[in-house]
Parts: sequence; structure tokens; C-alpha cells
Amino acid sequence: MTERLVTPSPLSDDSRYEITLRPRSLDEYVGQKKIVENLRIFIEAARNRGEPLDHVLLFGPPGLGKTTLANIVAREMEADLRSTSGPVIDKVGDLAAILTNIDESGVLFIDEIHRLSATVEEILYPAMEEYQIDIVIGEGPSARSVKLPLPRFTLVGSTTRAALLTSPLRGRFGIVFRLGFYTTEELALIVGNSANILGVPSEPEGCAEIACRSRGTPRIANRLLRRVRDYAEVQGDGKITRAIARDALARLEVDRLGFDEIDRKLMFTVMQNYAGGPVGLNTIAASIGEDRTAIEDIYEPYLIQLGFLARTARGRVATDLAYEHFGLERSSTTGAGGKDQDRLW
Ligand code: ADP
Repeated sequence: MTERLVTPSPLSDDSRYEITLRPRSLDEYVGQKKIVENLRIFIEAARNRGEPLDHVLLFGPPGLGKTTLANIVAREMEADLRSTSGPVIDKVGDLAAILTNIDESGVLFIDEIHRLSATVEEILYPAMEEYQIDIVIGEGPSARSVKLPLPRFTLVGSTTRAALLTSPLRGRFGIVFRLGFYTTEELALIVGNSANILGVPSEPEGCAEIACRSRGTPRIANRLLRRVRDYAEVQGDGKITRAIARDALARLEVDRLGFDEIDRKLMFTVMQNYAGGPVGLNTIAASIGEDRTAIEDIYEPYLIQLGFLARTARGRVATDLAYEHFGLERSSTTGAGGKDQDRLW
């Protein structure tokens, strides 16, 4: 998979900043209003009862704040947090070791929970339901199953692919939240806050310019901010203005909707090579040289959200809006694409 500036997945230099820029409380958490409101009530109720919070499942595309929310839940519950991820736990013993070491009322965060193996997942069922695990001691005829009590804990699971979760696992979460893309206004607020934390002077118009190209995703907004900051320091006086942001992002080849080369390639493939579709995911993947799951998880959710691409039973279809944005005629099957390409920047 090609590493791209506007990918919602973490890039190597993101992690250093993400810890600094991550909001620490529900008050600091921008957007996702309904989720925040509900969580506030659930947390207060659980704390008043002196019980751990019900298990929470968070799903939605990468970079929207699932890990951040898990951290906030633990902090607001004044509980200890342990973090791990589905692919890391490959043996039943690994999970048993984690579960038996959780503090009473602690929070266990499992990222990419859809990637747990079936045997590991089965251990989770009684752990979530009855706060106990069944482990087998010994081998062969002398093997016996022992029930091990666990502290009462809250599991926060996060996944980009809710459809891949088995129904027994999904059914054991009392609280299920779907995170959506952020509005440009919310992202502008996040960019402004991050600029303050990083000590970068910024104008609201400059933050808005970064926000509208961030694909509704805070992780991308923070990343673009850092790139624009470099540019502002070298080419300007360090301040993030609209002109600096626009210029920097055009140079970075991120257009005004946050599209980069891969989005354009994907959309042009559907619109020109396949006359707007319907075209199957595998065909698109082969045509643009990207992985099918990457397209499903990373590239297309935003294109669908914008209303440029539609998912149908027979494949992906480019919408009129997409033709309009790229300045193409529906019948057009040739050409370099677009009469008025400057508009895109
Ligand atoms: P996910 O776990 O969904 O991939 P993260 O929680 O790691 O996403 O979020 C990535 C970064 O985006 C965080 O480090 C934080 O800086 C920023 N972020 C995410 N959600 C918010 C939010 N609601 N308000 C402010 N910043 C946010």
C-alpha cells in the first residue's frame, strides 16, 4: 500500500505528536456530540453506583478518535487503563495474563478487536459477562478446566470494521457507538487547539483551510497542520494564514476536498475506464494497484461520505456530483480528465 499524506491510518511520525495533541477529557473532546453526551451520563451513573462502566464498542474509520475516547473513559472513570490490540494477542494465555492483571474497575482497551482469533475471543465471553475465565490446566485425560475469577472491568473495543465482528462478541457490549466524520468547523477548532498546543501562531482562516482538506478526520488535520507549519516557518513568518495553508497544501498535492493522487486515480478509473460503473471492488483494486481492504477501509468511506461514490449490489458507481467536481461528462471515456482542473485546488 502506498504511504500517503492524507491516509487516516497513523504514519510513522504521527505517534510522537498524537500523545501531546490528544484531548484528555470529554470537555476537550471536539465533536461527536451525541456520543459525548451519552458517555457523560453513563459514566456518571456508573460512578454513582460504584460500578465499572458497561463494556463499550467504538466503531468507525481510522483517525476519528476511538483510542482517544478509550483513554478519556478511563480518565473520567478514574480507572487504570491497559491497551492492547487484536492482532497482538495471539494466544489464550496472553489474554488471560492481561485480564488477571487488570485493576478492579479498570479499563481494558482492545484496538482492532475484529482481528482477535476465534479461540481468544471465546475466552472473552465469560470474562465480559461473568468476570471470570475458564482455563484448561494440564493435557490429555488429566486436563481439567478451572474457573478463575477476574476483577470487574470495562472492555472498550475499537474496530474499523463492525461487520467483521462476530455477533456473540458484539452482543456482549452494552454500549455501542459509531463515530462519524467531523465537520469542517469541528476540524478547524481541532486545528486551532493543536496549533496552540504546538505554539504555532495561526489565523482562523488558515485553520479552516487545513480543516476542509482533512477528510473529516482529526488525525489528518493534525498531520496537515504540522506540514503547513514547516512550510510557514520556511516560506513565511511562521504564522498559518489562509494563503500559506493553501499554497502549502497545493504543493503537497492535497486538493480542496482533501483528495490526493490515489483518490483521483480511483475516481477517474471508475468514471473513465468503466464509464461510471458499476464496477467491482476487485477490478478497481487491480486497476489502481491498491489492496482491496485498503480501498474498503481507507479510501472509499470518505468518497462515499462526500457522495462521490456509491456502493451498489453490482459494484461501485460514480455519482453526478463526482463528474461535476472533476469537470467530466458522463459519456466521456477518454481524455486527461477535466476541463477546469484549477478549480480543484
Ligand atoms: P482512532 O483510534 O480512531 O484511529 P485516535 O483516537 O488515535 O483515532 O485519534 C487520532 C488523533 O486525532 C488523536 O491523537 C488526537 O490528536 C486527534 N483527535 C481525535 N479525535 C479528536 C477529537 N474529538 N478532538 C480533538 N482531537 C481529536
